[in-house]
Amino acid sequence: MSKKIVIIGGDAAGMGAASKIRRTHKNWEITVFEKSPHTSYSACGMPYLIAGQVDRPEKLIARSPETFINDYNIQAKTLHEVIQIDPDKQKVLVKDLEKDEAFWESYDKLLIATGASPNKPAIPKINTQGVFCLSTLQSGIEVWQFMEKHKPKKAVIVGGGYIGVEMAEALLEKGLEVTVIDRSAYVMKTLDQDMSEDICQSMRKAGIHLMLEESLTAIETDENHQLQAVKTDKKHIPADLVILGMGVKPNTKIAEEAGIKLCDTGAVLVNDKMETSISNIWAAGDCASSYHILKEKPMFIALGTIANKHGLIAGSNMAGENSTFPGVLGTAITRFNELEIARTGLKELEAKSMGLAYKVATINSSNYAGYYPGAGKIKVKLLARKDNLQIIGAQIIGKKGSAKRIDTIVAAISAKQTAQDLTMMDLAYAPPFSNVWDPVQIAARQLV
Ligand code: FAD
Repeated sequence: MSKKIVIIGGDAAGMGAASKIRRTHKNWEITVFEKSPHTSYSACGMPYLIAGQVDRPEKLIARSPETFINDYNIQAKTLHEVIQIDPDKQKVLVKDLEKDEAFWESYDKLLIATGASPNKPAIPKINTQGVFCLSTLQSGIEVWQFMEKHKPKKAVIVGGGYIGVEMAEALLEKGLEVTVIDRSAYVMKTLDQDMSEDICQSMRKAGIHLMLEESLTAIETDENHQLQAVKTDKKHIPADLVILGMGVKPNTKIAEEAGIKLCDTGAVLVNDKMETSISNIWAAGDCASSYHILKEKPMFIALGTIANKHGLIAGSNMAGENSTFPGVLGTAITRFNELEIARTGLKELEAKSMGLAYKVATINSSNYAGYYPGAGKIKVKLLARKDNLQIIGAQIIGKKGSAKRIDTIVAAISAKQTAQDLTMMDLAYAPPFSNVWDPVQIAARQLV
């Protein structure tokens, strides 16, 4: 029997689920409500749009609402915000943002894929023109347009996480003077401090003013409300562009109001089928929890890699199949200029806070054979359980080809392999790619 599917949120998780359901059921009615003007866009590509490496925002759109209706018979209604879920009557209240009208839409099965929103400090003038957060494609287009129109010269980035680091690279590339402030003692807090120090060094060498252990306290404007500067607890920094990269929180308001259970981290609590606590309602992507395989608890980790997999699993189960999501390791990569950065599993600080006895090896090597032209540095930090040497985490920084080496370690952790297993894994070698002992294996050997 045909079913009526409603999906809230039209990006990675939402459209991934919609596409999976359509592949399984040609005749089911599928409607997606998306409050922004775009569907299926790559937020991850926005720093490269702003840097000018991607020349137009349209290139970041994988599929438009027209493509969804014409090629997939999926109704994707943009500029439509779902403002309420009524789980008893199985319907949602939708606001048409263009017409400013609301209407109820019924569903047999509902997916919440509302993503996450950037954290904004509660300080005056935070909404001044020139102060931006990056989240939806629309938010990236606004920064891009502002840069084209106003040609800012001095940028302050608040937050040294991956968005802050990627935006620092992008704005430097555009010729701006860039200051990054972070209240922590180091950037990229998903890494341990000893690994982050190389990133801080690289950022400073490239000309970034890196202000650590400093917090944003105020936005300053002139008498015409034009952005002039930011104030921290230590100084005053002139700025005509401010990017806030202060982390994100899951968009759960409508879920919570509907009585759906959240987990400790604030995300919608889901099981391994992506089912929520209320029947016929699933959740996927940044708004939903992910079971952490090593921490053995639900976590909030906002990444496109996870959102796409969540979408596929939720879609499959909504379509009536029986699929399970195995969980995550918190694997992530980024870069600052030529320095590639990667992490997976537990960092040392996390292993310590879990009370886990572990062994750690940190090695310095080269990304290619040392004699091969262009060879550069790579640093690998590898963690294993002390009792059985099972690999539990890694961080890698280095030149070209370094970051994706993390995937070898992800595979090892997923297969519950030990440092000995990793040492003997039949990895590839030729001088333009690696040493005969891959740096990952050099680190593993130190643990054995
Ligand atoms: P979203 O992409 O946030 O989509 C949710 C959608 O729901 C939004 O379009 C929103 O408008 C809509 N919505 C919300 N509430 C409602 C409502 N009530 N009614 C209707 N619509 C609603 N991840 C990586 O893995 N690698 C990267 O390199 C990477 N780089 C990134 C760079 C930047 C600058 C940013 C901002 C993110 C990056 N990410 C990266 C994260 C990645 O983009 C997200 O994890 C991913 O987009 C999450 O997909 P989602 O579908 O869960 O949520």
